[in-house]
Amino acid sequence: MTDTTYIRCGKLFPGVGDTVLENQTIVAEDGIITRVAPSKDIPKSADATEQDFSRNFVIPGMIDLHTHLAYGNAKTEEDIDLYSSLEFRAVRGVFFAHQVLSSGFTTIGAPGDSGMVSRAVRDAIDAGLFQGPRIAAAGPYITSRQGLTDWYPTWIGVPTTSIGRLVTNRDEAIEEIRKQVKEGVDTVKIAMDGILRRPNGELVAAFTLDETKAMVDEIHRLGKIAITHARGREATLYAGKAGVDLIFHASEIDDEGLEAVVANKCSICPTFTLLRNYVDFVEPQDPAFRERRNSVWRTEFESAVENLQKVKKAGVPMPIGTDSGFALTPFGEWHARELEIFVDYMGFTPIEALRAATSVGANLVRPSDRVGTLASGFQADVVALDGDPSKNISILLDRSKMKSVLKGGKVTPPAKREYDPGKVSDFTQVISSELYTRERVSKLGYRAPSMHH
Ligand SMILES: [Zn+2]
Repeated sequence: MTDTTYIRCGKLFPGVGDTVLENQTIVAEDGIITRVAPSKDIPKSADATEQDFSRNFVIPGMIDLHTHLAYGNAKTEEDIDLYSSLEFRAVRGVFFAHQVLSSGFTTIGAPGDSGMVSRAVRDAIDAGLFQGPRIAAAGPYITSRQGLTDWYPTWIGVPTTSIGRLVTNRDEAIEEIRKQVKEGVDTVKIAMDGILRRPNGELVAAFTLDETKAMVDEIHRLGKIAITHARGREATLYAGKAGVDLIFHASEIDDEGLEAVVANKCSICPTFTLLRNYVDFVEPQDPAFRERRNSVWRTEFESAVENLQKVKKAGVPMPIGTDSGFALTPFGEWHARELEIFVDYMGFTPIEALRAATSVGANLVRPSDRVGTLASGFQADVVALDGDPSKNISILLDRSKMKSVLKGGKVTPPAKREYDPGKVSDFTQVISSELYTRERVSKLGYRAPSMHH
């Protein structure tokens, strides 16, 4: 028997176009939308369950393409890479996936996680074992000696629990892609740069253009989505020329890079939230940084906004991503902040930002998921809000305004919020976050007997 649901919408933004519709009803059969029509044309039926959002604003379930399910809200890269077993990370990921779903994000990209963690969480949610978003899962980042995730000294190497997999030549890169595809990834992530800069300050790409092309061609030949971390000019250019599907960051993109991105129809996911949270939350008050403010992230934020406004003007698809999973960006907390930043800093209208978080991102997740638009043939993934995000995008960050989240036409129960962070991550052996010189100690107002003059 078909399970039919009528979702009554006071206002409806369907994820595409510019128009907010009024008094519409979405008909879902077994979780898939079969019709969207004026409510007066769809009278109550004894055979259909009613979801009454006739006083609410309804949007598609949102999509955050940059949520690292296995990171565990960690404060350090070491915590992400070293201290937890892969098994614990998967269990932890299940808990946090529910929090992401509860924040109105019914689909995520998990672009780079250790082991098979995000694939395991994806499969457990797909099987109906746990509540969580639909997940487009990657394996560990493919990296070179100059790429992100080969953080540690060469005598430590890249541990098997790391979020990255080091490849030392083209054949190893191709083999790693084939292995990950065999093991069920939806996307393959390449770390296109890291932290090495030339004397002129420019970030160095971790792979040559030829190597990048070879990897992207193989990912595409196997039918998967090619995604990259690329902050620098060179890495972004190579990623664009190689025709990757999605570039994260692209903070230092130049005109040549933009030309390649446009020519090869790449999408760019800026991921401002991590940078902005750092500038707003860490710089002003975190004791670890009080005396040595790190303006690198502020500089990157400001130049990224400037460069990416040109990207927006060129019509490049720009989906939403937050780098959630760090202590700076805990799961379920800040996903919607990226929309707010798009509006406040990038000149997006609220409707443009809503499209970025729905139909635009939908092109970069599992094609079988058919999400991001509320129209016939798509999943009935829906967020019902008290308030109008086309007037005030920030209401998306206010959990009290989130009336209901539906996935596949079914109401999802809200996640339990509390947990003990000290037992979840924070395993790094930090002894202090200050440097306790005698001068510092006396500034702090402590006068030990030995310090009397
Ligand atoms: Zn990331």
